[in-house]
Amino acid sequence: MISFVGAGPGDVDLITVKGRTLIEEADVVVYAGSLVDSAHLAFIGEDAEVYNSATMHLEEVLAVMIEADRSGKDVVRLHTGDPSLYGAIQEQIDALESEGIAYQIIPGVSSFSAAAAAVGREFTLPGVSQTVILTRRAGRTPVPERESLDALAAHRASMSIFLSAGQIEAVVRDLSRAYPPKTPIAVVYKASWDDEKIVRSTLEDVVSDIEGEGIDRHAQILVGDFLDSPYEKSKLYDKHFTTGYRKGLK
Ligand code: SAH
Repeated sequence: MISFVGAGPGDVDLITVKGRTLIEEADVVVYAGSLVDSAHLAFIGEDAEVYNSATMHLEEVLAVMIEADRSGKDVVRLHTGDPSLYGAIQEQIDALESEGIAYQIIPGVSSFSAAAAAVGREFTLPGVSQTVILTRRAGRTPVPERESLDALAAHRASMSIFLSAGQIEAVVRDLSRAYPPKTPIAVVYKASWDDEKIVRSTLEDVVSDIEGEGIDRHAQILVGDFLDSPYEKSKLYDKHFTTGYRKGLK
């Protein structure tokens, strides 16, 4: 069996119990060494083979996984955060399916969740925003025009921007089409790692505030009033509100 496992955002204990157990029992581990902490490898068995996919291309990764599976070995393909986001797993899955090889996907804690945790904020505040946009700016991978950052900015929803810390000026330019200059922004570098760093700022100041911090990759850009604004308290815990579990007070 081949298991795509979400390693979580950094902190080695932010992996699921299921993911950790699969690592412990794996015969072969292929990990995305550019973003997955090698501390996860402390949990593999003595005889397990380890490959760092940062130095391999797709065909090499597939060859390792397929050969291992054919010799009856259990493989863990360890991806950063949650594998469903910018994980490049689909091309691997489709190749395995065409070979008739069984696989499973174990979700992980994404860096967008870890970044929100780091700043101590909830994305979905009543009266502020009930929507989170997970996106990126185009880099070597293009983004469809209808999903460009300035188009998405029109919603003024809570936003978590991946893979774009190296283009902060362009991010600000795009967002400024719709978000007011005082809109709060937090740049969270390496959320949940020991060297995590947070820069809290606003749309108009973030470019200068981030200067000299050395944050051009491995960061989440969180944007929106959810970071710092008054909101309505939830209905769910309102003492006057009746739910399926609790009768509201008169
Ligand atoms: N699947 C991953 C994302 C992989 S793309 C996930 O769910 O998080 C890589 C991008 O994710 C980085 O450029 C950065 O924007 C973000 N990222 C990954 N780990 C991060 C972390 N610990 N802190 C902040 N951003 C992180």
